Amino acid sequence: MVTSGEISKLHFFFFPFMAHGHMIPTLDMAKLFATKGAKSTILTTPLNANLFEKPIKSFNHQNPELEDITIQILDFPCTELGLPEGCENTDFIYSSPDLSKGDLNLKFLLSMTYFKEQLDQLLETVRPDCLVANMFFPWATEVAEKYNVPRLVFHGTGYFSLCASHCLRLHKPYKNAASSSEPFVIPDLPGDIVITEEQVIEKEEESVMGKFMKGMRESERNSFGVLVNSFYDLEPAYSDFFKISVAQRAWDIGPLSLGNREFKEKAERGKKASIDEHECLKWLDSKKPDSVIYISFGSMSSFTNEQLIEIAAGLEMSGHGFVWVVSKNGSQGEKEEWLPEGFEEKTKGEGLIIRGWAPQVLILDHQAIGGFLTHCGWNSLLEGVASGLPMVTWPVGAEQFYNEKLVTQVLKTGVSVGVKKMSRVVGDFISRDKVDRAVREVMAGEERRKRAKELAEMAKDAVKEGGSSDLELDRLMEEIKLVKLQNEKDQRQTNMSSDPRHKLH
Ligand code: UDP
Repeated sequence: MVTSGEISKLHFFFFPFMAHGHMIPTLDMAKLFATKGAKSTILTTPLNANLFEKPIKSFNHQNPELEDITIQILDFPCTELGLPEGCENTDFIYSSPDLSKGDLNLKFLLSMTYFKEQLDQLLETVRPDCLVANMFFPWATEVAEKYNVPRLVFHGTGYFSLCASHCLRLHKPYKNAASSSEPFVIPDLPGDIVITEEQVIEKEEESVMGKFMKGMRESERNSFGVLVNSFYDLEPAYSDFFKISVAQRAWDIGPLSLGNREFKEKAERGKKASIDEHECLKWLDSKKPDSVIYISFGSMSSFTNEQLIEIAAGLEMSGHGFVWVVSKNGSQGEKEEWLPEGFEEKTKGEGLIIRGWAPQVLILDHQAIGGFLTHCGWNSLLEGVASGLPMVTWPVGAEQFYNEKLVTQVLKTGVSVGVKKMSRVVGDFISRDKVDRAVREVMAGEERRKRAKELAEMAKDAVKEGGSSDLELDRLMEEIKLVKLQNEKDQRQTNMSSDPRHKLH
């Protein structure tokens, strides 16, 4: 057993991909590792460092007995890399209405290689004991290996989608489907999970992205292992499957969001909220328990005005109270084409629209919230689980359709709104009737709610001292410590054999 005194000597580098959905859980991880006595350093670019500074300062201030979390700033000359000035985060791409998102997204992703040399220099000079680097940095494994630094991969998603993706890639069952909308069972994956070709992302093997993903998997195979923001009791069959059939070495250390216990920590996740947090909670205080549905599509998805109007109409038809986050930032006094005429007046007191960024975990934790309409981004989904909420699932792209299947077919805590087809940025069109039906069903389903509340208890237990995620983290720390000890031993031997005095004996 490694003692906490020894562990405090461990130094972890955390290197997140620059998107809120990756940066938020990475900060949570850095904090979690720091509470275990390690030193955490986050590697990021100047503009992203601004997003980390405030919460890190609060954390360091509140925990004077721990090693301070630090930020290591990396250079990222956007214009030199062919990106627009200030494009240091995918948020820049998704919040600029005039940009062609698909092309820029890919260019942004491919620009990450620019960090390789800087990472090399840093590892050579600082020699941390472990590098936790995002999956989008496949070259990080090779760089870390050069300096005997164990590299862990962080995907940001859960076991279920990692396993589904593995089985789909391996067996390509969609090739045998009669049509792109014909359901089939994913071979090998526990649970007889049904999906259609239109919802599968593994098909583009020959595209630039497909090749990039191939490189990613190779680097993962050569890495020290995978860190997963999940907990064992949420998806035991998939956690086991992943460790036996996919990556062998993986540690489930989540839900990471539960590490945020103070009001301020919950309020300061990601961007500055577009609403006063206290006002928002005061509004919720006036509502009955489990009576309000929270609607958010994460940090990147956006919809056409027609779709937003349909959501508004469906919410009104359902008769339920709601908090709806819309990423549009209409300038003051401007007519908002995406809202039905007089909508806010009609739903006054019953509905709250947040234009921009919501303090999501604060809202989800409020007792008035009784359901979550989500795009099934893994962070949101897990935050919903940790808050004990049944969900309406509305996946848009990436691995969100797989996450939806976990909620609707395995956990059975959600109802699909009925999106059939994946699209890169703007989702499938869903009518107001479908929104109304799914919201009503989720808000009324007592069995679903009961299961969701049980899962939330399990999530809390997992991160408690001695809980499954807590123990996994201890085990990981032990392994890293052993690598460190071995590295130190090897170094001593190298020093001895190159010392001429030893050669004399
Ligand atoms: N988030 C938030 N406020 C918002 C939108 C998103 O706090 O208005 C947070 C949310 O709590 C989650 C993250 O941003 O932690 C989004 O990650 P997710 O994986 O759900 O979706 P993505 O944005 O990556 O599609």
